[in-house]
Parts: sequence; C-alpha cells; structure tokens
Amino acid sequence: MQTLSERFSAIHERIHKTELLYKRTAGSVRLLAVSKTIPVNIIEAAYRLGQTDFGENYLQDALPKMAELRHLPASWHFIGRLQANKTRPVAENFAWAHSVDRLKIAQRLNDQRPQNLESLNICIQVNLDNEAGKAGIPPGETAELAAAIAKLPRLRLRGLMALPKPTGDVQQQRASFRYLRQIQEQLIAGGLALDTLSMGMSDDFEAAIAEGSTIVRIGTALFGPRG
Ligand SMILES: *Cc1c(COP(=O)(O)O)cnc(C)c1O
Repeated sequence: MQTLSERFSAIHERIHKTELLYKRTAGSVRLLAVSKTIPVNIIEAAYRLGQTDFGENYLQDALPKMAELRHLPASWHFIGRLQANKTRPVAENFAWAHSVDRLKIAQRLNDQRPQNLESLNICIQVNLDNEAGKAGIPPGETAELAAAIAKLPRLRLRGLMALPKPTGDVQQQRASFRYLRQIQEQLIAGGLALDTLSMGMSDDFEAAIAEGSTIVRIGTALFGPRG
C-alpha cells in the first residue's frame, strides 16, 4: 500500500511529465486535491506535504472540517452542485466556486461575498454533452452568462469547468476537453480575461492537461477510494 506522501509524489510526477510531453509551461497545471469525505487529519497531513488547494462538494461535510482547519492558510474550492438557498456559506468560506451555472447563483454569491475578503474566483460549469439533469450551462449559452458574471464586482470570473461523461477512450476524453478549451478561446476572443480551465480528474487528467487544463481536480488517486 502506498503512503499519502507517495501518492502525492506520484501525481505530481505524472502532472510534470505530462506538461513536458505536451509542451505546457512547467508548473502551469495546479493540483486541486478533492478532499470530499476525507477526514481532517488526512487533509492536514496533505497540507504538511505542501498541498494548499482543496476541493469540497458537500457543504455539510466541508464546513465543519474547514472550521477545524482554520489555522491552516489553505485555499478552499467549492466544486459541488450550487443551490440558490445555500450560496451564503460558499460566499463566506471559499476562495473559489467552480460550479456556477446560472446568473441567479452568481448574483447571490456576489451580494453575499464579505467585503473583507478578496473577490470570489469563479468558473462557469459547462454541460458539454447537453446531458439532461446534469449540472452546467449548455455550451451555446455560456457566452451570455460569462458576460453577465464578468460585470459582478465581488466575483472574479477565471474560466470554465466541466465534468465530461466518463469514458476510457483517451481520444474521446481529449475531444471533450478540447471542446471546453474552444469555448474558452471564443470567450477570450470576445474580450474576457480568462486564465483557468478546471478539467481533469483521477482517470482522465493527462488528457485534460494535453488539451490545456490549468486545474486538475483529483481525489481518488491521492486519497484512495472513498468509502
Ligand atoms: C469527486 C470529484 C472530483 C474528483 O474525482 P476523482 O475521480 O476521485 O479524482 C473532481 N471533480 C468533481 C466535481 C468531483 O465531484
């Protein structure tokens, strides 16, 4: 069995090798450790290994852990489904929200972001495959939402996030990630200053890096299978 330290080293090494292979700038891909359901002692151990960015999906699970780990200057990213009646704890406790897919949610986050904190970093979640019932805005509506979010003063629109349909076919993985990058490039051509593509998880992060990911969100490959 690998230790936590070995798993983190192995992932850092794979990220680094993949950056080199696809001629990405060394260090341009940030590792977001997805710590949903992971207990605070393990998160703290990861922090001691140098990991600073943590991703959480479930507020009920995340908020008590974040309170317990207040002494660590970690950066918390909300990556779960955002409900309109639960935006306040996200606005008050997180540095990033990756899963914004409606203007109403963005407006609430903007209004609820405390003045003493920096602007909340935002990624718009795109439903690349137009899957019914899945979070994310359809690709064709992304530009309009992005333009509206970019005007909100307490938010900083950083880019796009997607969770494509899982597939073991690397070419298909790459096609989905490429599509997200192309949407991002259109937004940039339209005048938005975006620097973030939040894409790639344990099973497909190398394909995501090949297509321009700047944040890979990795849980299982770092912490082991969730119970
Ligand atoms: C759980 C989760 C991840 C991490 O998935 P792994 O397969 O465990 O790496 C990444 N992104 C989101 C949105 C998630 O919910």
